[in-house]
Parts: sequence; structure tokens; C-alpha cells
Amino acid sequence: MIAFLNGQYLAKDRVCISPDDRGFLFADGLYEVVRFYHNRPFRLREHRQRLENGARELRFNRCEFPEFDEVLMNLIEKNQLKRVESAIVYFQVTRGAAPRSHRFPPPETPLTVYAFAREFFSAVEEQENGAGAILVEDDRWGHCDLKTIALLPNTLAHQKARDAGAVEALFVRQGLVQEGTHSNVAVVKGGVFYTPPLTRHVLPGITRQAVIELCREADIEVRETAISKNFLLEADEVMIIGTTVEITPIVRIDGKLIGSGRPGRLTQKLQAAFFRLTHNM
Ligand code: PLP
Repeated sequence: MIAFLNGQYLAKDRVCISPDDRGFLFADGLYEVVRFYHNRPFRLREHRQRLENGARELRFNRCEFPEFDEVLMNLIEKNQLKRVESAIVYFQVTRGAAPRSHRFPPPETPLTVYAFAREFFSAVEEQENGAGAILVEDDRWGHCDLKTIALLPNTLAHQKARDAGAVEALFVRQGLVQEGTHSNVAVVKGGVFYTPPLTRHVLPGITRQAVIELCREADIEVRETAISKNFLLEADEVMIIGTTVEITPIVRIDGKLIGSGRPGRLTQKLQAAFFRLTHNM
């Protein structure tokens, strides 16, 4: 596999990152995952803008990544992924390497930029038949709107879901459902599409935005509003939304069936529209 590190393409097993890297020591970094469908990136500009916005919020010494698009395209090409149906590119930026100190390193310290690409397969069975989720208390920090690499609460919660035979854990903060560990969440009730509003506790998902647009095109009413745990459990349909999960129906939460326990009509309609959107770019 050919990866990218600080301006160079090299075999992934030759990538060397300093033990002083602030990503390693402090999780002081940001990342993006961009999906390619038949060699076409899905919403590339939106991913770059989210990264640049994160870099501004974290006060990185560089907040523009003009190389982003080209690195992604090159990795797809160099890894022979132009012809596969779907691939992902992972792109990470950290505040760079400097002797360990809480204080930011000198402003001339170069950021560390690392990226790799690989083929990616959708979880077709889960998308067709639906899957389970669990609810967990949201113990993450106060800036989940930034896509930082500090994902320990997410990985712990996700593993808890896997251990319970579910595919996602949904974070609940003060009785309100926020998002999944690697997805946004939405609910259908009475034909209306509900999703939590963009606050500091929710990542502004690129797929979430695309799905909202698909709803509007299909004349489905969208309400970006707080979703209580009870509202979620009594929904007609629940789905998780994201770059990797795309639109996956959630048919069981903490063992309780949602609606009929089968993927709902509106979820399936959005899945079909999303497939058309991603495969006719
Ligand atoms: N929320 C979290 C916590 C995520 O990690 C992700 C994606 O990884 C999402 C939501 C969905 O975002 P996107 O659609 O941009 O992939």
C-alpha cells in the first residue's frame, strides 16, 4: 500500500512518525475520511472545508490544505483503486513533532500530514436488513463538532456495541440523543425526518447534510430538533448516517424493536436516493 507522509508517497510500512508527534502524545490532530465511488470523491470540498475549519478552531499554524484534493486523487491512483466500486481515503493532520510540552510548539513547526487509501465495502447485509444499536451515556469532551483524532470514548462505546451484537452505540447527553460513535442519527415519525441540530455535541456530518438535501428534494419534511431517548425508542424508523455506514437502518435499540423491526419505507427510499446520488456523480 502506498501512503502519503509530509509531501512524499511511500510504501505504508516505511512510514515513520516521531514519538514526539503531538498526535501520538496528545491526540492533537484532526482527520477526514472521504469516500470514492467509481473513482469519484463524494463531497470532497465539504470534507476539506471541515478540516480547515477544525484547523482554525484548534489554532494550527496552517489552516489551509490546498494539497488535500490532489493527495486523495493520487492515493487512489497509486493504489490501483480507480476501477473499484468504492474506496476510502483517510487524511490526518497533527500539530507536528516537538519536545513534549502542553504549550504549543514554535509556530514554524511543520504539521504532520499523513494519508492512506483502501478499498471499502459497504455492510450490505446490515443496510438491507437493518442492525442493532445500544445507548450509552455521552462522556465525550465539549467539542464533538470538530473531527479530532481523540476518539477513545468513541472506540470504547463502539466496542461495547459490538460486544452486545450491535453495530453502533448512540451517545445520550442529558436524556437527548446526539449521534453515533462514527455516524449521525436520524428518526422518522409520522412521515417527518428528525435529526439532532448541529451543536458542540454533534459532528456536522457530510452525509447528514446530503441526506437532508435528499429529503427536501423528495418533499419529506425535515426537523433539526432535539431527540429524547423516548422519542427515539418510539420512532417509526431509526437510521444511522455517515461516510462508511451510508444509510443503515437501526431496527433494534438495547434489544427493543423499532417500529416493525424491519427497515422502514422512508429509510429505504432515502437509501435508494443516496445510491443514485453517489453512483451518478
Ligand atoms: N459523527 C461522528 C462522531 C463521526 O465520526 C462521523 C464520521 O466518521 C459522523 C458523525 C458522520 O460524518 P460524515 O458523514 O462526514 O462521515
